Amino acid sequence: MNSGLQEIELVVVGAGPAGATATLAAHDFGLEVVLVDEQPFDAGAYRRNVPYWFGPRAAARSKHQVDLYGWIERHARLRAVLANDINMRPRTAIWGLFPSISGWSVGVFDGSTTQLWRARAIVLATGATDLHLAFPGWTLGGVCGGLGARSILETTGYLEARRLLVLGTNDIALQVAAAAQAAGVEVVGLVDVEDSITGDPDRAAALQASGVRHFSGHTIVTAHGGADVDEVSVAAVDGERVRLDASERISVDSVCVAIGRQPSLELAYLAGCALEYAAEDGGWKVAHGPAGETSQPGIYVAGDAGGTLSESAAAASGERAASAAADWLRGTQHAWRPRVGRSTNVFASRWHQLAESIASDDVLVCRCEEISRGEVLQAVRALGAQRAADPNEVKRISRAGMGVCQGRGCRPIVAGLLARQHATAFADIPLSSYRPPVRALPLAALATEEGADGPLLEPFGAANFTLPNASAT
Ligand SMILES: Cc1cc2nc3c(=O)[nH]c(=O)nc-3n(C[C@H](O)[C@H](O)[C@H](O)COP(=O)(O)OP(=O)(O)OC[C@H]3O[C@@H](n4cnc5c(N)ncnc54)[C@H](O)[C@@H]3O)c2cc1C
Repeated sequence: MNSGLQEIELVVVGAGPAGATATLAAHDFGLEVVLVDEQPFDAGAYRRNVPYWFGPRAAARSKHQVDLYGWIERHARLRAVLANDINMRPRTAIWGLFPSISGWSVGVFDGSTTQLWRARAIVLATGATDLHLAFPGWTLGGVCGGLGARSILETTGYLEARRLLVLGTNDIALQVAAAAQAAGVEVVGLVDVEDSITGDPDRAAALQASGVRHFSGHTIVTAHGGADVDEVSVAAVDGERVRLDASERISVDSVCVAIGRQPSLELAYLAGCALEYAAEDGGWKVAHGPAGETSQPGIYVAGDAGGTLSESAAAASGERAASAAADWLRGTQHAWRPRVGRSTNVFASRWHQLAESIASDDVLVCRCEEISRGEVLQAVRALGAQRAADPNEVKRISRAGMGVCQGRGCRPIVAGLLARQHATAFADIPLSSYRPPVRALPLAALATEEGADGPLLEPFGAANFTLPNASAT
């Protein structure tokens, strides 16, 4: 691993609406800013389901490299970043964040080497990841997450599916359904445990008018198939009960689980930022004040990582975070303390409660390590009442959460199991720990050596990168 440190005034992690807006605002405030994003992904990310849940079919068949130029060209804010000659590092993942003497040490992986940068301030605009749901068959080819499907559709204009069933009717579910239809996929239906559509009613109406069925008050029971899905059973729900006597089999080759998202908070966790639980924002999120100030000095959060749920809200929070970071770098202190969130729910969502009500012990809960529900419960029994309430103890014994996705998928599922076993609120189960590196690094990258001057930080700006019409829009 490289040991050389290069000091940067502000590092922005994440080039979505929040991070790109924060970068442009920071540049306007006269800050030296570097914008980092691990997108556009290499094929390996599909295998690791990082940061989204792409599913095993995408992982098995992802041979193509997504075009870097196309990724930038599609995003007006990124074109503006380039047009302003701001240092941007695409295809670069941040794998660690640690306190250092005059700020923060940032672990960087550019696809072949690791580096450590020193930053005086950080904006974490890391977005959100898919909320997973464990049901029989959820590990088959053709099952993927809503953000994973949306990302593939956005970057390639294509989804390897012929007949698709979407779980969820929130905005992401509806966006995926509409984009999949536009890409030539037959969207068979939208399933929701609730009776009403939760996303944009106009988009939902357009989908229904095009023949997409709405399975209101239903949940998934099983995805059937061999290596890939070929049928799905759904059943009506009645309060907290799944009516297996009112089930239906639907012929599909793909299922998109778009039931919700959870803020990406690995880096905030490593930095020691206070977290808070807010079920309505996707679960645990980075606790922050009105300008995105976290409990750690110099670290700001923006966008979905802090619980925003729309592009415009994410962009506005990016601007506020950049302004607060600029103030902080000029010596203004923000007095802010986190509040403690409360929630009495036992499960991450009603989907999880219903899935658990019909789950057998052989259902897998950790797809990476192939750990079943029964094995997790065995670990709970072995640990005894007190220690079993700690998901880290359960992880050590069962190995659930130790795989390549580092527990992004099974964390909420295991926490729900523990909450139920202990008859306690989901929010009272501590968040299982994240450990650096939070992205899988090849051994060759860890062994990389640098010269005594430390790593080079070459600008990825307009000077060495030209796009057709590379002006701000
Ligand atoms: C295809 C698409 C369609 C959309 N449609 C709508 C819509 O119709 N209506 C609406 O309101 N909103 C829409 N949105 C916006 C969306 O729903 C979110 O609200 C918005 O993207 C949140 O912005 P963000 O910057 O917080 O996070 P994101 O846009 O998710 O960006 C986070 C970025 O952080 C990067 N990242 C995370 N961790 C790391 C790490 N460790 N190292 C490096 N990089 C990292 C990720 O690669 C990602 O690019 C859409 C988004 C997309 C992509």
